[in-house]
Amino acid sequence: MKLNYEPIKVFEFFEEICAIPHGSGNLEEISNYLVDFANKRGLRVVRDEALNVVIYKEATAGNENSEPVILQGHMDMVAVKDSNVEKNLETECIEVDSDGEFIFAKGTSLGGDDGIAVAYMLAILDSKDIKHPPIEAVFTTDEEIGMLGANAFDASLLKGRKLLNIDSEDEGVFTVSCAGGATAKCVLPYKMEPVVASVIEIRIEGFRGGHSGVEINIGSANANIIMGRILLNLFQNVGMRLMILNGGEKDNAIPVLSECAIAVHSEQKENAIKIINDTFEEIKDEYKVTDPNLSVITNAMDEGVADTFTSNATLAAVVMLSNFPNGVQRREPGMEEQVRTSLNLGKIRTETETLEFTFSVRSSKQSEKKYLIEKLKSITEIFGGTVEVSGEYPGWEYRNESVLRDILREEYIKLYGEEPVIEGIHAGLECGIFASELGDLDAVSIGPQIDDIHTTKEKLSIASTERTWKLILNTLERL
Ligand SMILES: [Zn+2]
Repeated sequence: MKLNYEPIKVFEFFEEICAIPHGSGNLEEISNYLVDFANKRGLRVVRDEALNVVIYKEATAGNENSEPVILQGHMDMVAVKDSNVEKNLETECIEVDSDGEFIFAKGTSLGGDDGIAVAYMLAILDSKDIKHPPIEAVFTTDEEIGMLGANAFDASLLKGRKLLNIDSEDEGVFTVSCAGGATAKCVLPYKMEPVVASVIEIRIEGFRGGHSGVEINIGSANANIIMGRILLNLFQNVGMRLMILNGGEKDNAIPVLSECAIAVHSEQKENAIKIINDTFEEIKDEYKVTDPNLSVITNAMDEGVADTFTSNATLAAVVMLSNFPNGVQRREPGMEEQVRTSLNLGKIRTETETLEFTFSVRSSKQSEKKYLIEKLKSITEIFGGTVEVSGEYPGWEYRNESVLRDILREEYIKLYGEEPVIEGIHAGLECGIFASELGDLDAVSIGPQIDDIHTTKEKLSIASTERTWKLILNTLERL
């Protein structure tokens, strides 16, 4: 179908892109298309090994002395289809449809995330009548599967130090910072020995959970940390040995359940169960707002020979778990809703010879992230353990002064008659990678309203696309 809506050129390019399959990992063809686009128009173009494409366009008359502006979006989409759709998304195009208010696709995701950015950029590169400074248009690859293109990108291809990223889905929200992160695994070696004792299994569940980049600010309970508190109370009051401890699934998911087995002297069995239940009652009361469905299940067995952690290993595990920092560590000064630094003990596993605690650590401030990892190291190393750090990605720090943000804000107020929302997000964005590679980068992320991205219900607002287009053009003219 031909999308006959304003801005005509933007929707024309959007439909051209939809005709080229471009799910993550399948980007050769769309990348070729972008290079051809530039060559046909005599625009300088560079493509790298990761298939990222940069197209350069000179300033329009009168703007030759302006600083270049980087426009950026990702060329890949999350290609999904309804179960009854026969289409092969590797080879077949997206069928675009519209109800006059929204653009969507028949039985598949639309790829408005982030095809609309590609379409905006192509329309600007193609135009003769839009006033703008020198443009460096960056089309990255495989954002949706770990920002692979941005990670491989050679930043020396860019001269600009102002970057407009067009990969937000909330119209009226300017994103101005993002968290950097890392996975930190604290590994504690332990030894086992047999003791004569009663075994008690403890399972706590019904925790709220959530994504640690999005929902850590709620302050809900972390099942692993709560288990640490129960174990500390037991350790101090009845004496016990740890046997096994497991909780949560992933470092970046707030755990919804945690379970363990401990061994206690048989005469302490009843007392131990009372301590577990009493501690848990306190916790239920403390977290009744955020976690209303908490429950504890205990299963106590008769006396027998049990293989347990040594007393030293039990001490180490309990002290570590009950002293690890967790949750929000600091908020952005002046933006109290905004989490700046946090960590989440997402996963605990008892392996054959080690007990492993895995955290997702996040901060938009590199030095605060580093300090948190140092803290985890100190608690772990004092008990003979080690910390493995992996999957590090850079943050994008909030700038007190941002010319780009100021101009966008002024133009937004002129167009919409109201203030935009200016916020940071507590997860990774491509802007973080560019900000760490290009010193002193002034970046803002915006975009038109797109609902239900990454699903077959994805829909792009036509009116919002037009308003955002005007905002981009007015901003380019000012720059
Ligand atoms: Zn995106």
